[in-house]
Amino acid sequence: MTDLFSLTEDQLAIQEMARRFTADAITPKAAEWDETKHFPRDVVRQAGELGFGAIYISEEMGGINLGRLESALIFEALSYGCPSTAAFISVHNMASWIIDKFGDDQLKQRYLPQLVGMEKLGSYCLTEPGSGSDAAALKTTARLEGDHYVVNGTKQFITGGGVNDFYVTMVRTGDPSNGGGGAKGISCLVIEKDQEGVSFGANEKKLGWNSSPTAQVSFDNVKVPVENRVGAEGDGFKFAMAGLDGGRLNIGACSLGGAQRCLDEAIAYAKDRQQFGKPIADFQNTQFTLADMATNLEAARALLYLAAAKVTAGAPDKTRFAAMAKRLASDNGSQIVDQALQIFGGYGYLRDYPIERFWRDLRVHRILEGTNEVMRMIIGRDLLK
Ligand SMILES: Cc1cc2nc3c(=O)[nH]c(=O)nc-3n(C[C@H](O)[C@H](O)[C@H](O)COP(=O)(O)OP(=O)(O)OC[C@H]3O[C@@H](n4cnc5c(N)ncnc54)[C@H](O)[C@@H]3O)c2cc1C
Repeated sequence: MTDLFSLTEDQLAIQEMARRFTADAITPKAAEWDETKHFPRDVVRQAGELGFGAIYISEEMGGINLGRLESALIFEALSYGCPSTAAFISVHNMASWIIDKFGDDQLKQRYLPQLVGMEKLGSYCLTEPGSGSDAAALKTTARLEGDHYVVNGTKQFITGGGVNDFYVTMVRTGDPSNGGGGAKGISCLVIEKDQEGVSFGANEKKLGWNSSPTAQVSFDNVKVPVENRVGAEGDGFKFAMAGLDGGRLNIGACSLGGAQRCLDEAIAYAKDRQQFGKPIADFQNTQFTLADMATNLEAARALLYLAAAKVTAGAPDKTRFAAMAKRLASDNGSQIVDQALQIFGGYGYLRDYPIERFWRDLRVHRILEGTNEVMRMIIGRDLLK
């Protein structure tokens, strides 16, 4: 287990590298990406050159093979500049990891060399219009015909939809009338963007996360070779959930990074802004608000680092801890950004300052990778089992 109270030299070096990259390549541009809904393909590629597209992929396959705590440090740093771009990179990592962890050699050799450096990009397709929280009720079908599956259905809210190249997609191979209707009937296929019958909806108009494209992905009689199946038939839901342990840590880390940025901005603003003849930092109300923000941020960070160490170690309670950490980091993150906005007063509400962008970006972390209500279900179920 990692020492929770001090980062190692290697961890500090990784954190420093990610912070420098963020300061140089992300922070100066993030507001413009948000405003123009620009997907920064070039910067994502640069992140890939640093290994950030394959953070926990084996070195054998070209990844940098770090633990989940190191991954959290990277996403926290990236999110300090732009939560939306950071989270996009997290989803790519989750999709690639599923291939690396559960795919056979030919599948890994075919896709990972293109994914690790982010020359090609990966999406994770679980959610459907009729199944969000109840993900195991998904209806996209994959019917086996000789050496290929025929896939039909629609995936909803797909990060990278229409932009990304490879779609790690959960499909129903089981027959619902014969016991294959729930989680056990789900398999995982890698589907390519250019395959006949694959189409995309328009980029969704969202409250935030504007640098990260989100779109519906539809499959109309798409022929997918059997070799594109990840692992065995019926194991897809297991892989999807395993991917989410790491995804939830990363999203939680993105909340921490965004909240840290807003805390830092609020401290600087409070020292500078004068009202009633003195800096607003002199009012006890401001000091107490900053104190609560910092306390809640550190509490969430400590739990997230602990959960990350548990996921790396494969601890039996890792899923519960990942859920607890995501729930706390995204709830606290949202609250901290809101408190920062209050300290900024009317200026916090203007696009001239970064707070409102973080306020919009961090809000969605309470919804995706499982809503925070679903996190509570996972935690409660594990406590009572
Ligand atoms: C910007 C964005 C990007 C996304 N990217 C991806 C992606 O790349 N891949 C992907 O597969 N999905 C993605 N998602 C989908 C996301 O994971 C779902 O939105 C999320 O799981 C919730 O599903 P839903 O929106 O259908 O809400 P619903 O499941 O309909 O939930 C609605 C409300 O009911 C509550 N609720 C539901 N069931 C219960 C219950 N049993 N007990 C208590 N409360 C309950 C929920 O907590 C929520 O508050 C993305 C979503 C967004 C917004």
